[in-house]
Amino acid sequence: MTLTTKICTSIGLASMLVAGAAAQRGGRGGAPPTPTAPTPPGPPRVEALKKEAADAVEAMRTDTQQMVDQVFSFGELGFQEFETSKYLAGILEKNGFKIERSYAGIPTAWFATWGSGKPVIAIGSDIDDIPQASQKPGVAYHDPIIEGAPGHGEGHNSGVPLNITAALVVKKIMEREHLPGTLKLWPGVAEELVGAKAYFIRAGLFRDVDVSLFAHVGANLGVGWGAGFGTGLVSVEYAFKGESAHAAAQPWRGRSALDAVELMDVGWNFRREHLRLSQRSHYVITNGGDQPNVVPQNASVWYYFRETDYEHIKELRDIGDKMARAAAMMTDTTVTSRILGSAWPQHMNKTVAETMYANILTVGLPTWDAADIALAKGIQKELKQPEVGLATRLGPLRGGTDPADNMGGPSDDIGDVSWNVPTVTLLFPSNIPGLPGHNWANAISMATPIAHKGATAGAKAMAMTFLDVLLDPKVVADAWDYYRNVQTKDVKYEPFVRPEDRPAIDLNAAILAKYRDQMRAYYYDPTKYGSYLEQLGVKYPTARAADGSCGAKGVP
Ligand SMILES: [Zn+2]
Repeated sequence: MTLTTKICTSIGLASMLVAGAAAQRGGRGGAPPTPTAPTPPGPPRVEALKKEAADAVEAMRTDTQQMVDQVFSFGELGFQEFETSKYLAGILEKNGFKIERSYAGIPTAWFATWGSGKPVIAIGSDIDDIPQASQKPGVAYHDPIIEGAPGHGEGHNSGVPLNITAALVVKKIMEREHLPGTLKLWPGVAEELVGAKAYFIRAGLFRDVDVSLFAHVGANLGVGWGAGFGTGLVSVEYAFKGESAHAAAQPWRGRSALDAVELMDVGWNFRREHLRLSQRSHYVITNGGDQPNVVPQNASVWYYFRETDYEHIKELRDIGDKMARAAAMMTDTTVTSRILGSAWPQHMNKTVAETMYANILTVGLPTWDAADIALAKGIQKELKQPEVGLATRLGPLRGGTDPADNMGGPSDDIGDVSWNVPTVTLLFPSNIPGLPGHNWANAISMATPIAHKGATAGAKAMAMTFLDVLLDPKVVADAWDYYRNVQTKDVKYEPFVRPEDRPAIDLNAAILAKYRDQMRAYYYDPTKYGSYLEQLGVKYPTARAADGSCGAKGVP
């Protein structure tokens, strides 16, 4: 199924090439300092196998591209990743991996294992996307494939394809070299809801794991260790219950659940002034009643309570709980709550990060061409951001940040995993610097050569790190030494989810029920098209003309 895309004038490529390296920005932060010196190379056999792995990943770049494009086209929200999971687990199954499906009571969760014995390497990445972020790839302004539908406005379509490429390459080497070890791939289901990883831990996914390697899209190739920046969170929905009545005839007989929601929100917004600067809290009203002439008997509000450590997250949630009870008291309603998700603040492993960083320095950044840079500058201009293009310089190994300097930020439930087994997150450059995140703009690169090259670079670093873990027992030993004697010396993992909590697998079902049929028409068909851009008929790159034209909807 094709779709007609308005063809806008391509921005002048030549002028885009003058972007100085000095203007480039990478990763999630500011201008990177000079990369630190590489660690000395390992034994010649290991280095030779790592080079072979990187070459084999390069040779698989078409497979990587197809997987990245395919998952992009599925565009599924958290807990509804049925097509995505069927497709990705299916590829691994065809390649000899043993699959366990519907893991931890989550229909879209699975894990895939191959090999035997130690070390066991867990290899994960998220797969869900963002509400209302549908966007044509390669187009540097808002132009949804389907208006209102979800889309990969976070780039979670690229990580598991990267992991699969790396795993298939290393599996071949392990077979030939008779290397002991187990590869265990798993998807980050419902990461945008931080909805699954605590349940994976509870079900025992990481119990036998020696090292956990995670991949997440970024705007540079990098890795870090320690606490870093960011938060953990607990996600709670408060449901208020009142009494309905005719809102005009006998309003005094009603008790409005919506009043309770509004009073709780007002209370929270006053309290905000007296919370720590590192907190982040936000809410959406998930049920505001039915219609104005009926006093709402049911209403609910969904909060994310974020803080930089476990104790402060709990404290924030306790304030929320108290405020909900107070709002119920003020309105003569009742309230119940449900935990919809949770994430521990992340703490990444020093040994594994250093090992991976040495490989990152070997791999380096992809070579961007004029079209890639033009798309990046096109969207940066569109969003009135500095027109820095794409990352052209690796950043340093991040790490050793004092937790007191952490002023908050996003969360990822890989944090829970990081407190159960030595873990790192590989960031790979499939996205564009300067974008808002959780937005259609973050989808525009995700089925283009930028995403494909970024995932291939990431797969090289990942495959090489697998080989370090498989071939050098010191990596595993030192990683656990750091984990036991530094990271968890004074802090022990306690899940936010209580024994009675269950994964919130009903979330997003109604949205996908609404859009699934329309979306199916745009699933990528690699048997007919070399790329998803080709299938959609998108000229790469498409950006606004200098006079700003071509932005209006439906104007060719
Ligand atoms: Zn993410």
